[in-house]
Amino acid sequence: MALDRTNATLALSGPLTDVKGISPARAKLLERAGISDMRDLVYTIPNRYIDLRRVSNIANAPLETEVTILARVHSVKLKFPNTRRALVEITLVDGTSTMIVGVFNNPWLARKLEPGQLLAVAGKATFAYGFLRMTNPFIEQVHDRFDGGKILPVHPSTGKISAAMMRSFMKDALFRIAGCYDPIPHGIRMRRRLFSRDSSLRSIHFPKDMDEVESAKRRLIYEELLFLQLHLMMQEAGQSMDSPARVSLADAHFKKDLLASLPFDLTADQESAVSDVVSDMERPKPGRRMLLGDVGSGKTIVAALGAAAAADAGGQTLIMAPTEVLAEQHHASLLPLFEKAGMRSAMLSGSTVPSDRERILSDLRSGKLDVLIGTHALIEPDVHPANCTFCVIDEQQRFGVSQRDALLAKGESPDALFMTATPIPRTLAISLFGNLDLTYLRERPTKGAKRETHVLHRQSQGKAFDAAKEALARGEQVFIVCPLIGVKGTGNGKDSDEGPIIESPEDYSVADVASAESEAAYLSSTVFADYEVGLLHGSLPSEKKAEVMRGFHDGKIAVLVSTTVIEVGVDIPKATVMIVEDANMFGLSQLHQLRGRVGRSGLDSKVFLLSNSKSPEAMERLSILERTDDGFEVSEHDLALRREGDILGRRQSGRSALRFVNVIRDRELVEAAHEDAKNLLEEDPKLELPENAHLARELREVYKASDKVGA
Ligand code: ADP
Ligand code: MG
Repeated sequence: MALDRTNATLALSGPLTDVKGISPARAKLLERAGISDMRDLVYTIPNRYIDLRRVSNIANAPLETEVTILARVHSVKLKFPNTRRALVEITLVDGTSTMIVGVFNNPWLARKLEPGQLLAVAGKATFAYGFLRMTNPFIEQVHDRFDGGKILPVHPSTGKISAAMMRSFMKDALFRIAGCYDPIPHGIRMRRRLFSRDSSLRSIHFPKDMDEVESAKRRLIYEELLFLQLHLMMQEAGQSMDSPARVSLADAHFKKDLLASLPFDLTADQESAVSDVVSDMERPKPGRRMLLGDVGSGKTIVAALGAAAAADAGGQTLIMAPTEVLAEQHHASLLPLFEKAGMRSAMLSGSTVPSDRERILSDLRSGKLDVLIGTHALIEPDVHPANCTFCVIDEQQRFGVSQRDALLAKGESPDALFMTATPIPRTLAISLFGNLDLTYLRERPTKGAKRETHVLHRQSQGKAFDAAKEALARGEQVFIVCPLIGVKGTGNGKDSDEGPIIESPEDYSVADVASAESEAAYLSSTVFADYEVGLLHGSLPSEKKAEVMRGFHDGKIAVLVSTTVIEVGVDIPKATVMIVEDANMFGLSQLHQLRGRVGRSGLDSKVFLLSNSKSPEAMERLSILERTDDGFEVSEHDLALRREGDILGRRQSGRSALRFVNVIRDRELVEAAHEDAKNLLEEDPKLELPENAHLARELREVYKASDKVGA
């Protein structure tokens, strides 16, 4: 028995070709879809279920509500109603009546379907021209010999591997892993009322009823969260050695002087953030803190005060920002403050001239410098601080784990502060950064100024341009943001890492999407002919980018047409109008970050979101930004739509770590798993106790491939 259970557990890590029906060629296809062993396979859960107990016949199908109909193909036609679209028209019969199904843009379907085939089609039906009709429904071929329960699981299918094939693979795979050990310790399972692994997998793939699916899902979600928390926490514990407490507040004059030289008072949130940072420094364990604050919440000064506290204890600070523009901006705003406090700082980037670079690095090595601000240039091998005790990473989501670690390696277990303007709600933050301490800046330091957001259809764009011209007449400045760089209609103009989130292919065609280049050319000769119009996008050489930004900053450029390169941290006090073209192509959180570029000073500002989308849902989604100015609320909307990618940026989206979790819906499980992981590791830091053996083994298996996850 125990041997069987061990074998079943081992089978999870076995090759796909052990499964009946998976040839080496099919295994390759699956691998391309990210399924490379039996574990990946059984954790590929159905996208949806067809409840065969609830199918309707054609004659009695209700209109305008989701319904599933089981019927046979009578005939299939491929039509081309216009040059751009292919339409497959399927006539279905079921003995009660006839139904016509239209499918756009999938011409291959015409070849796949044959008269006589039994199909389950699910969607909303309408009645027109004498027939029941469905457009673009979900379609699944049902084999007469289907012998599962009454609920038909539909697994994600990939090209040549159909949902029906996936179903049969699952059957065999589940048979092979039957009885596998549960990695979640028994006590936790009881306390949290979780299905066992074995039965949750069985139920998720071949449920008897939909309640079973819910319970199974709950178990899998919890498992995913628990593993991730344990992984993050253990990874961090492996790295952080104890380091001496560094700050003696007795001689804290840099920090005091810096505070005294500020032209404003800190907000209460900023004060407590600074004291969080300082207490990290006072503790023997190196601090790992994430500072989360909306755009304009004043994170920079928190970092600067941390640097001053580090200097008070004789340490140096490295501040790394993702772009040259940002690093320069930090340097420009902090240098005078540091100077007043008697601290020495410098800036280093890829374009620092060699002689300057040499001097800066030598000052850093000798300890003359207290603070070095820079780009990735900071992690180059010849950067050797004398005594780096504090590292700050601004817009941390733009850096990879290895870059983060490379910066921290410049000191001896330095305290670290990661900053992000992405308003990540607490539960998502926990799931992503369970290993970090979280500090939030929720207050806005500059109140009073108004910022309005308006969603406009492209036809009414004149209103936006009028507002822009009014602002320009007052001597203020204007941002115009476009989704693409290149010439309209070429379709290859997408910014490499800053591109838009594409809504749905139906929603637009590339030919209609505004591109920064052509928009700049057009606007500078028409609407804004009287003003200097600048162009900024990610493909410009970095000197050119810096030049354009300087021009805009100094007011020489009045209107800046750009892609989302301006997204990060840019501070232009006189920019009061922003017009975002084709706004429906961006995620809400991304738009929220963008609009944070205006209204940063005391001036009232206006944001116009233009869209050509015909879809009412797209307009409705954008209107959330009209209704709220709170980044956390906005990101909760994105999360509710499961669009973590919009919040985190593309680099961190598509992560394998959170496949089942929706951090808004699963709030309680997130907190529960976080708490359980902490308790587990408190008792058994390396998971060496016998009762945790299955857990330890599973973690190694799940995270062996690579370290895809991390802050
Ligand atoms: P972010 O959190 O987006 O990085 P910054 O640190 O760039 O925000 O701060 C935005 C602006 O607010 C800056 O011009 C900064 O000088 C100003 N600021 C920061 N803290 C305060 C405060 N407590 N009172 C008034 N202005 C502040
Ligand atoms: Mg910032």
